[in-house]
Amino acid sequence: MTKQLKNYINGEWTDSSQTDDRNEVLNPATQEVIAYAPRTTKEETEEAIRVARETYESGVWSDLTVHERAAYLDRIADQIDEHFEELVDLEVANNGKIKAEAEFDIGDAAECFRYYSGLIRTVQGETYEVPEPMQAMVVREPVGVAGLIVPWNLPMLMAVWKLAPALAAGNTVVLKPAELTPVTTTRLFELIDEVGVPKGVANLVHGRGSVVGQTLAESDDVDVVSFTGSTDVGKGIMKAATGNLKKVSLELGGKSPNIIFADAKFDVAVDMALFGIFFGAGQVCSAGSRILVEEPIYDRFVEAFSKRASEIRVGPGNDPNSQFGAMTSEKQMNRVLEYIEIGKKEGATLVTGGQRLTENGLDRGFFIEPTVFVDVDNDMRIVQEEIFGPVVTIQPFNGEKEAIELANSTDYGLAGAVFSQDPAKALRVIKKVRSGITWVNTYHPTYNEAPWGGYKQSGIGRSLGTYGLDDFQEVKQININLEVEPTGWFD
Ligand code: NAP
Ligand code: MG
Repeated sequence: MTKQLKNYINGEWTDSSQTDDRNEVLNPATQEVIAYAPRTTKEETEEAIRVARETYESGVWSDLTVHERAAYLDRIADQIDEHFEELVDLEVANNGKIKAEAEFDIGDAAECFRYYSGLIRTVQGETYEVPEPMQAMVVREPVGVAGLIVPWNLPMLMAVWKLAPALAAGNTVVLKPAELTPVTTTRLFELIDEVGVPKGVANLVHGRGSVVGQTLAESDDVDVVSFTGSTDVGKGIMKAATGNLKKVSLELGGKSPNIIFADAKFDVAVDMALFGIFFGAGQVCSAGSRILVEEPIYDRFVEAFSKRASEIRVGPGNDPNSQFGAMTSEKQMNRVLEYIEIGKKEGATLVTGGQRLTENGLDRGFFIEPTVFVDVDNDMRIVQEEIFGPVVTIQPFNGEKEAIELANSTDYGLAGAVFSQDPAKALRVIKKVRSGITWVNTYHPTYNEAPWGGYKQSGIGRSLGTYGLDDFQEVKQININLEVEPTGWFD
């Protein structure tokens, strides 16, 4: 059954007035239409922002005790757990990812609400020793109205990475999901409604980035905009935010290096490098899309890696046999195929993959083979630009110095990894990698407790951890005179 999704504004489920222009939401494994979502207008978005503003000013959320807000977050987490299977299936159907990946996303989303429910109950201010009779303290307050703009690769999880800290801190929010993947987020807002979060606190507005997203970034009534998506759109958000100098948090793209030294455990390095690039079909911002391998093991690595890449079973996310799923959209599939053509034209050697998959019913969806390029020059576009798909380049290097130079040679700085059995060398090298999320002898594990974000053009600010809360809080110093006397300054 095709579902008509709605906006959730001021506690009401409403449609946009633009009923003749709806967004068709597809299952990318089959191209079936699974839902229709509103294309909300600028004026309707402004109305949602006004609701969030008034709700914020009313204090129904910000004036609650942290225990009361935390209790709502716990109940949302419980609701996610209770609807786990349903949310997993919806994410698989809408995003194209395999079930095991969606299970990770939904489980982590519940944990993220619990993490911020716990964090907001912990130490929230500071006091300083200052000369008597003064007392100086620092308190944390919500920023106000938060505009949250979410991408399509981890639709539910990226929404929650923003919602949980924003709500924990006492802000009201207007969230825009990606048009490609609004389904799980809409279900999440139904669950938020069911736990009785006061109306107007959490608002959901569907629609185009250029309309709804742009309005959130521009609005003088939005105090902080938190965006996850591409570097190009991120730059536009930053410009749009200058009108009222709102706080800006940007989680952007990556082209992350995975450095493999000759002394690494070979099989582990191959295995983790596969996981690093092909998890999520490569549609992961932190993907290890540039593998750098030390000369002595380079040929052996290319052979072993490419063989295993060619054996990966690509297919529909709901087929337990599939190891990675569909590209989330036809546009994304075509973008990846275009990059594969660019790689060939630039003179790189295609070792395996490179094609759209169409056998056994896969022609109905957007599937691409795991693709490996070698013989690349460092300035080729397939080495420098984020492809955001199952395409990896493998480059040789000689020694630590060259590894670090190559690792840091793009505009991005999101993630990176080092594989070596020499712990001192591994630490030395990873410290020189200009990225915010790094690993040694593994790839991808991350935790709600630790900051997530990038150096250079991979973004500004950090999600998760205490840092993720900072995005949604202002800090205020309060200086109290405990002995009220004239200063005598002008006597
Ligand atoms: P995108 O095209 O930048 O879109 C991201 C979101 O921004 C979508 O909701 C989109 O809306 C909206 N948007 C588009 N144009 C806008 C505008 N002018 N003003 C305001 N909002 C606008 O990125 P994507 O293609 O969805 O996602 C892939 C990118 O996200 C990759 O670059 C990836 O690396 C990055 N990413 C980064 C992280 C991280 O943590 N650093 C995590 C996940 C993804 P519509 O698409 O609905 O129009
Ligand atoms: Mg886009």
